[in-house]
Amino acid sequence: MEKYVYSFCEGAKEMKNLLGGKGANLAEMTKIGLPVPPGFTITTKACNTYYEKNKVLWEELMDEIMDHLTALEKTLEKKLGDDKNPLLLSVRSGAVFSMPGMMDTILNLGLNDTAVKALAEATNNERFAYDSYRRFIQMFSDVAMGVSKYKFEAILDRVKEEKGYTYDTQLTVEDLKNIVNEFKEIYKKELRKEFPSDPKDQLILAIKAVFDSWNNPRAMVYRKLNDIPHDLGTAVNVQSMVFGNMGEDCGTGVAFTRNPSTGENLLFGEFLVNAQGEDVVAGIRTPQPISNLENVMPKVYEEFEKVTKLLENHYKDMQDIEFTVEKEKLYILQTRNGKRTSKAAINIAADMVKEGFISKEEAILRIDAKQLDQLLHPNFEEKALKEAKLIAKGLPASPGAASGKVYFTAEDVVAAKGKGEKAILVRLETSPEDIEGMVSCEGILTARGGMTSHAAVVARGMGKCCVAGCGEIKVHEEKKECRVEDLVVKEGEYISLDGSTGAVYLGDIPRVEVELTGKFEELMNWVDEVRVLKVRTNADTPRDAQIAVKFGAEGIGLCRTEHMFFDDERIPVVRKMIVSKTIEERQKALDKLLPMQKEDFVGIFEAMGERPTTIRLLDPPLHEFLPKKEEDIKSLAKDMGISYENLKKRVEDLEEFNPMLGHRGCRLAITYPEIYEMQARAIIEGAIEVKKRGINVHPEIMIPLIGDRNELKYIKDFVVKIADEIIEKSGLEMKYLVGTMIEVPRAALTADEIAKEAQFFSFGTNDLTQMTYGFSRDDANKFLTEYETKGIFEKDPFQVLDRVGVGKLIKMAVSLGKETRKDIKLGICGEHGGEPSSVEFCHSIGLHYVSCSPYRVPIARLAAAQAALKEK
Ligand code: PEP
Ligand code: MG
Repeated sequence: MEKYVYSFCEGAKEMKNLLGGKGANLAEMTKIGLPVPPGFTITTKACNTYYEKNKVLWEELMDEIMDHLTALEKTLEKKLGDDKNPLLLSVRSGAVFSMPGMMDTILNLGLNDTAVKALAEATNNERFAYDSYRRFIQMFSDVAMGVSKYKFEAILDRVKEEKGYTYDTQLTVEDLKNIVNEFKEIYKKELRKEFPSDPKDQLILAIKAVFDSWNNPRAMVYRKLNDIPHDLGTAVNVQSMVFGNMGEDCGTGVAFTRNPSTGENLLFGEFLVNAQGEDVVAGIRTPQPISNLENVMPKVYEEFEKVTKLLENHYKDMQDIEFTVEKEKLYILQTRNGKRTSKAAINIAADMVKEGFISKEEAILRIDAKQLDQLLHPNFEEKALKEAKLIAKGLPASPGAASGKVYFTAEDVVAAKGKGEKAILVRLETSPEDIEGMVSCEGILTARGGMTSHAAVVARGMGKCCVAGCGEIKVHEEKKECRVEDLVVKEGEYISLDGSTGAVYLGDIPRVEVELTGKFEELMNWVDEVRVLKVRTNADTPRDAQIAVKFGAEGIGLCRTEHMFFDDERIPVVRKMIVSKTIEERQKALDKLLPMQKEDFVGIFEAMGERPTTIRLLDPPLHEFLPKKEEDIKSLAKDMGISYENLKKRVEDLEEFNPMLGHRGCRLAITYPEIYEMQARAIIEGAIEVKKRGINVHPEIMIPLIGDRNELKYIKDFVVKIADEIIEKSGLEMKYLVGTMIEVPRAALTADEIAKEAQFFSFGTNDLTQMTYGFSRDDANKFLTEYETKGIFEKDPFQVLDRVGVGKLIKMAVSLGKETRKDIKLGICGEHGGEPSSVEFCHSIGLHYVSCSPYRVPIARLAAAQAALKEK
């Protein structure tokens, strides 16, 4: 027969899947001889069977529970509901992974009108007994039966007011007896039945409530956010009560074996004398720091300190421990690996390697790669953040914390910066025209767009904080204001953005810069020893390239050249090139652009030194460089000395119904080869110039949006011709590569053909995801959230690589590419290159490198090392 209930003496920490985290650790602590109040755990398997049986506690399970209850009564020589020596219980949920969304704790279960009297006598403290009783009714009704606790608190408040009391402690025994009766009335009124007086009924109802809480909406949302499978189920822990509220020689508290914010190796926590666990959490009385326990109860403190050391040593990780002291006797109620900030995680892992607790490999696996973001960007001051007013939540598009005055156009941001102000650019969505504003602002907030929208991609590239797709905010660009329901934020007012959570706050929240400590570098060195994947960066400027190198980038995987075109000095020339009617006119404009582009590339090659540097030729459709609004077209026509009608016509000619599938990428170079010719020339001439200074540069020229071998062949032929001529003329030797992005599904399907022309493939998974699913990357955010809430998608495929579909195309392209060209270089430069689970996939299929925005480089390095270790 299947066993569904385990006494704490029967389990062990390895049985977490069956007993839940809490249950397994209670059993483990019992096993190693720590003072744990005895009890038993009903398994997660029982929870799953309960659901299979349509939420019924079946007979065999009930028998097993009752057998364990009898054994517990025997051990403690107490009896549930007894009129002399009553056993009281706590009932707590305990899933495999700790889940704040689930049922919490019910204390003092077992009290009824008989047991309360016995408790009063046994403890010689009638007040304590009735106070425990009223707490139990309140907790049971609220936590297990869903009756709002405010209904009970209202009664307490009323009685206190009637009697002129300030504190609960002033309530007399008589008051408490009356309150107990009133509480029972509330229960009856709300649930249309009597409060259960039989302790066994109380226990069964509490167990059912824990099982039911597994599927409450909060728990489901928490599981989704934290990637916890829905079919694990929760265990139930039934434990005999100990009392921290029986007098001044009692107490309760929580402690971490090391500081969870900094990682400092010092006991950290707090406790309350004469209190029950809920009092610490409720925040009514201010707890004392744990170090004071040494003065209050020196013997207990000494023992507790020993226990904390023993537990940390036993689990080889920082522990979060709950304890209670009953009449100077210490009991341990829970231990688990403590939650910690990324700073603490790094410091603790590095220290534990030195202390000989864990190996370097274990240390690497312990750090949550996603959490590293916290470390690399400035954060808001903790205290100020708690007091700040949250007004809306969007997508956490690019991490960091930014505060500034709101402006609604790029020009206004630039002007504000000129006046020395800090500005936040707020737009419905951004476009390449906004680039200057994006450069000049502190942070970006958009109402539309997803995680790969223009704002998100560009902001991440710049390491600038961005909250995108914040639909709750209605942006009125013309009125220069935005609204969240009734709240209006006008131009010039302060807001603050948290790009790591997507939160938008009102006001100017102070920030703290983060320091990368020596331990971070140390850990990253260990990471580099084990990883196989190289990590490059997506950087468009020498400054970004320098930041990325500081973070450990080993090359550039994508330099988007279009961003250089928006520079103040260049954009007029670029526009001239676009509106040219003849090839001669266009060539004249391109000739002017050439030295500027060359200068850009010299800067980038200098920053990258001998590291491989992939530069992508122009990608976006040309209309992105032209204005859209009537007045802007008029003023540009004036500046350019051409008629408004002419310019307007050119703008209209360039308009497309589906620009993402339109005249962009390599398709531009089929029509206007002279644009790519100029860029190829600028790259190679720039590289030669740097090479002349003795730096052995490695340029890689990348052609975007290829779908057919012939497109690539046409472009590659003239690029190679130009490059070879320049190199030959220089008299130097210089190796360079020409390759392509794989971002159109047809390119992946015909990768064997394409590899005949390409020396490398770089997977552009932003477009590849867009085109594989047929989801517009700028609009999908509007409906993809619905996909996630309805459980159709687990993750947004623009954030976490879709291994099943897009991944299949990538795998196919890798193997087809290698069939043609054994040594073909393989990388990824879509946004997925900095996302840990996608990095793991890239490792598993044998790509050579991933490329991501500068601030994600350390995350990718860590994720690559973790992937290599997990494979072992
Ligand atoms: C891609 O499509 O994945 C890519 C890197 O290019 P972009 O985002 O510039 O289209
Ligand atoms: Mg692309």
